[in-house]
Amino acid sequence: MKLKNSLPPSKGYRGRFAPSPTGPLHAGSLVAALGSWLDARSNKGKWLLRIEDIDTPRCVAGADQEIMRQLQAYGLTWDEDVSWQSKHLERYQRALEHLNELNLVYPCTCSRQTILEALATQGISPGRNQEIVYPGTCRSPEMVATHKDISLIANTAWRLALPSNLVMEFDDLIMGHQSQNLNQEVGDFVLRRRDGLFTYQLAVVVDDEQQNVTHVVRGQDLLSNTARQIYLQKILGFKQPQYLHLPLVLDANGEKLSKQTLATAIPTEDPKAVLAQLRQAAIHLGLKDLPDGENISIAQWLQAATQAWKGSTIFS
Ligand code: GLU
Ligand code: ZN
Repeated sequence: MKLKNSLPPSKGYRGRFAPSPTGPLHAGSLVAALGSWLDARSNKGKWLLRIEDIDTPRCVAGADQEIMRQLQAYGLTWDEDVSWQSKHLERYQRALEHLNELNLVYPCTCSRQTILEALATQGISPGRNQEIVYPGTCRSPEMVATHKDISLIANTAWRLALPSNLVMEFDDLIMGHQSQNLNQEVGDFVLRRRDGLFTYQLAVVVDDEQQNVTHVVRGQDLLSNTARQIYLQKILGFKQPQYLHLPLVLDANGEKLSKQTLATAIPTEDPKAVLAQLRQAAIHLGLKDLPDGENISIAQWLQAATQAWKGSTIFS
């Protein structure tokens, strides 16, 4: 099966920034925030803020408030009420139940270790940062086809049963044409984990639909998730947003900046430091002919950056 992406959304641009509250924003996450804010503002659209706090073991108390304070200090204002994923668990449950009714999910009790062992018998040993493609251990046609009472089965993950030869194609506004064979590169992925938590893939798709998001602008580290998100949109009958994946900020070792690599929080106290940090992010985003930040307010600088956005070298 080969699925092409549908038509781009027609009007009413709605973008979003969806940080996980695992710590304060750093230079890398600022690039994603600024890029999506500029794209929304230059399209006269709305920019929503969604706190992706469903992976509770990874969340840090107060990080959501800190992120909001940082965005405000940087003039990256959002429209509408902030949305916290942890307050909408019933939405994700409903989507999972719907997929269950369509006979598209099955329970899985494999641990990471048993999956790695099963792969090893096939001579496969995924490297660090490599996708662990589920070998289908718990999948049986009967299990997929029967109706299951999800709420009654504890300590079990729920996986999506993919059709065979599922190649997803889409066009990224920067990265161009993309194609991913979901069977070979991803496998039947998890929608709800063994610990009961809903996964990022399910929650992000449900919320982008719920919030009528038309444009997903985010870092390139998330590019490889997009095909499975578009597939979920198709089977749930959701609209498909446009995707734009921004260049990542790498550290001196060529690794993505992250809390793991001890990226430091962006400064918020001194407006001069804020402008310097914004300029650095804008240069990374390929913006040309920007004001140097002398004798200019943050709001004025952002206005100039909004004008410059469509002329960015990342689009050429
Ligand atoms: N919460 C995700 C992250 O911080 C981003 C989700 C998204 O933009 O789709 O990595
Ligand atoms: Zn399993």
